[in-house]
Amino acid sequence: MTERIVIVGGGTGGTVLTNRLTDELATEIEAGDVEVTLVNDTPEQTYKPAFLYVAFGKKTMHEARRPLADLVDLRHATLVVDRVTGIDTENKHLTLAKDDGGLDYDHLVLAMGANLAPDEVPGLKEGGHHFYGPNGAEKLRDALAGFTEGHIVLSVIGVPHMCPAAPVEFVLMADAWFRERGLRDQVEITYTYPIMRAHGIKSIAEWATELFEERDINLETFFNAEEVDPDAKVITTMEGTELDYDLLVAIPPHTGSDLVTDAGLGDDGWVEVDKNTLEAKNADDVYAIGDVAELPTSKAGSVAHYAAGTVADRLASRVRGLVPTETFDGKTICFIESGMDEATFVEFSYGDEPVVREPSQLLHWSKLAYNESYWLTARGLI
Ligand SMILES: Cc1cc2nc3c(=O)[nH]c(=O)nc-3n(C[C@H](O)[C@H](O)[C@H](O)COP(=O)(O)OP(=O)(O)OC[C@H]3O[C@@H](n4cnc5c(N)ncnc54)[C@H](O)[C@@H]3O)c2cc1C
Repeated sequence: MTERIVIVGGGTGGTVLTNRLTDELATEIEAGDVEVTLVNDTPEQTYKPAFLYVAFGKKTMHEARRPLADLVDLRHATLVVDRVTGIDTENKHLTLAKDDGGLDYDHLVLAMGANLAPDEVPGLKEGGHHFYGPNGAEKLRDALAGFTEGHIVLSVIGVPHMCPAAPVEFVLMADAWFRERGLRDQVEITYTYPIMRAHGIKSIAEWATELFEERDINLETFFNAEEVDPDAKVITTMEGTELDYDLLVAIPPHTGSDLVTDAGLGDDGWVEVDKNTLEAKNADDVYAIGDVAELPTSKAGSVAHYAAGTVADRLASRVRGLVPTETFDGKTICFIESGMDEATFVEFSYGDEPVVREPSQLLHWSKLAYNESYWLTARGLI
C-alpha cells in the first residue's frame, strides 16, 4: 500500500520538508511505496525576510519570489496549487477550493504560516503602514521615501508575531537611514512593545534598550494599541495613554489558520503540538511546523527549517516501519540588523538565554549572504 504524505503550505517549512522527504525517501517513492504531495495556494513562494529591505528600497518584491516548481523536485513530489478549505482528521481527508475530490492522506504536515489581522484594531488599516506583507512593504517604501520630518512610531501590536527581531531591526535601520540622509534631527523615532520590555527574550531586550538610548530612539513598553484615529493620527492604548504620530508603522496582530481551529487542532489557529516531536496533540498522524505550530520559541524561518528536518526524519522512520527517534530541540538562529551596515547574531534552543554578539559589518554581510543563498537552502542544496 502506498503511504501518502501531504504537506499543506509551500513556504519555508513546507518546501524544506518536501525536499528533505524526496531526498530521504527517493527509493521508496520510485518503488511506488510513498507519495509526497505539496499543496500551496499560490504557484510561487514569497521570502518574507526580504520585506524589511523592500521597505528601505534595498530589494524589490520581484527578488523575493520564486516559482515553487523550481524549488521542489517534481520527479519525486507532486505540487498542487490549490487552497485547502477543510481538514477532516477522522477520515484523513482535505477539501480543496478548486478540486471537488479533495485529497486523502496517511500523514499530514501543516505548514500554513501565520496571518495578519489588522482588522482587530479599529483604524489600524486606514491609519497604519506595515512591512509584514508584500503590498505593505512597498507602500511603506513609498511613504518613507517622502518622509523628511516628523514622528515615526513603530508599534508592535500583540504577541506572538513573525520574526520578533524585525521591529527592532526596523527602527535601528530607520535611525541609520535618516542619519545617512542628514534628516535624523528632524525625525523622532519611537518603538513600542506590548510587554514590560523591548523584546520577549531578556538578553535581546537589554541589548536593544541600550542601543535605543545611544541612538535617541524612544522606547514605550506595556503599550497595547486599542484604537488608531487615522485623521487625528493618534494611537489610544488599553493602558489609557495616547501617542501622536506622523507615520505609524505597525506590526499587526497575528492569527493562525481558521482551518486549524475548525478541525479542533488548537485555539486561535495555532496547532497544539508536542514541542519535541511536532506531532499534533489532538489528532493522529498530523504534524505542524513553522509559524502555524504553537511552540515555545520564535516564529522564524530558521525554526521552520530545523523543525522540517525533524519531521522528515520522523516520517521516514514511520513509513519504513521503524520507531522515530529524531526530536526538535527548538533550535533558532537569527541575524539582527543593528543599522544599515552592521548586524548581530543569536542562536538558542528551548529555554536558553541567547548571548547577543557584538554587532559587526561581517555579521551584516553574513545576513545578506544568507538571504541570497536562501533559495538554495529551500531546495535542500546547502
Ligand atoms: C518582515 C519579516 C522579516 C522576517 N525576517 C526573518 C529573519 O530574518 N529570519 C527568520 O528566520 N525569519 C524571519 N521572518 C519569519 C519567517 O519569514 C517566517 O517565520 C517563515 O516564513 C515561516 O515559515 P512557514 O513555512 O511556517 O510559513 P510561510 O513561509 O508563511 O508559508 C506558508 C505558506 O502556506 C500557504 N498557505 C496558507 N494557508 C494555506 C491553505 N489553506 N492552503 C494552501 N496553502 C496555504 C501560504 O500561501 C504560504 O505559501 C520574517 C518575517 C517577516 C514578515
